[in-house]
Amino acid sequence: MSNDFNTNLTDVGELLNRFKNDPLPHFINGKRNKGKSNTTFESIAPSDNSVIGEIVVGNSNDVDLACNAASDAFETWRRTPGKERKSILHKVADAIEKNARNIALVESFDSGQAIRFMNKAAIRGAANFRFFADMAPNAREGKSMPADEHLNYSIRQPIGPVGVITPWNTPFMLSTWKIAPALAAGCTVVHKPAAFSPYTGMMLSEIAHDAGLPAGVLNCVHGFGSEAGKLITEHPSIKALAFVGDSSTGRNIMQQGAPTLKRIHFELGGKNPVIVFDDADLDRALDAVVFMIYSLNGERCTSSSRLLIQESIQTEFIEKLIQRIRKLNVGHPLDPDTEVGPLVHKQHLEKVCSYFDLAIEEGAKVAIGGKKLVVDGKGNYVEPTLFINAKNSMRISQEEIFGPVLTVIPFKDENEALSIANDNEYGLAGYVWTSNVERSVRLANELDIGMIWINSENNRHLPAPFGGMKSSGIGRDGGDYSFEFYMETKNVCMALGSHNIPKLGK
Ligand code: NAD
Repeated sequence: MSNDFNTNLTDVGELLNRFKNDPLPHFINGKRNKGKSNTTFESIAPSDNSVIGEIVVGNSNDVDLACNAASDAFETWRRTPGKERKSILHKVADAIEKNARNIALVESFDSGQAIRFMNKAAIRGAANFRFFADMAPNAREGKSMPADEHLNYSIRQPIGPVGVITPWNTPFMLSTWKIAPALAAGCTVVHKPAAFSPYTGMMLSEIAHDAGLPAGVLNCVHGFGSEAGKLITEHPSIKALAFVGDSSTGRNIMQQGAPTLKRIHFELGGKNPVIVFDDADLDRALDAVVFMIYSLNGERCTSSSRLLIQESIQTEFIEKLIQRIRKLNVGHPLDPDTEVGPLVHKQHLEKVCSYFDLAIEEGAKVAIGGKKLVVDGKGNYVEPTLFINAKNSMRISQEEIFGPVLTVIPFKDENEALSIANDNEYGLAGYVWTSNVERSVRLANELDIGMIWINSENNRHLPAPFGGMKSSGIGRDGGDYSFEFYMETKNVCMALGSHNIPKLGK
């Protein structure tokens, strides 16, 4: 065991020790709040399934309190000058950077994601705050649309208190991705982190408050989707719902929000193709293919979980792929050498492993992996896995497995690659590897996918639109796209003189 690993274990132990006796509370109206349900649930460490601590279960009283706090704070926060919001949000970013190591340690231990990636995720959370902080002073900006006898101009105002509901895979970064633009726009927030990974959502609320965010502007309620989550989506004070999670949950949320006509923004699942042509730089393509499915334990919405490989290079590419997979370092999430950590929860482990038998039943072959893995005799570990001889119609090619599991499907030519890539209910991310520029442009035009990377892994640029088509989502995040969601656009039409007004009843 390396020194760094030992230090990480000791430090996370100290950080989480304070929750050993007292359950993790909500954070409502600038204060920790024990809630009214008198019930808790256990948070479990993916590395050994030990109990990290108890978490309070949010009920209708808690959700009411949080939504009312967000509603009251909205009246002041929406009128806080953009420059002041900018300055406060930069202070939040500073505080996140100061706490980045603690956030990364807790996130890694709680979610099972390898510390090498979580170190960067905390820093990216701060970058999200800085980016949207800088946009706050101009958030109200609209358009000038002159007509012959009138001037039309548009102006934006924050929509109101919003509900932000996030998943467990990279909980801190994803929360900032939603919460930073909402706050920059002038909205207040009620956040519900996933029950599998609740700690860093709470840390974000506390850090932001300590950095100067006024009470009630960001509230955090814990609990289950079926209760606390549902109640937020139904609450009349909440005007919009920013949700990241499973497509089936998105469907439920759409129904739950319908009676109060909530505006919705969904970032949902994916079964993302990476298409590798024989004219590509195959070494770089291999690096990207391995990274985009086996990093973050494959628990990543934009993971390239379907490898579409041109037949002519299939054998050679798969051989090299297997060699790389064999050498992947599976281990404890806090070990700096770990590349693949344990899956978030036993329940999720069982889901991922159920695809191993299914692959064989469907007539595919497990080229490497395909079993649970025991590290130190415990934990939700799974072997990084590769399915070959697959057809696109198989469930292993169609369904989001959300683990370190890659399905390979061969294709003959560009047309076949395109039709396989589009033949899926999801349309979140797609990756194309080719040296033929015309082909890459043709594919980018024809793929029914929200984000396409050419000769690149998932590389995020904050002003660019992030989001999916089909069952992968509704709406886009990033730059001004985020403000389009968190703000209402108003039009003002002013007469410039004495234009003709129809005269009735004269
Ligand atoms: P999930 O849908 O089970 O849960 C997400 C959140 O929704 C949790 O906080 C949960 O408690 C809450 N929830 C569940 N039911 C609810 C309900 N009826 N009403 C309100 N809230 C409810 O998803 P998960 O298992 O936590 O996360 C994995 C999923 O997230 C995968 O499908 C993955 O692709 C997706 N994801 C998508 C993106 C993206 O940007 N498109 C990013 C990350 C994760």
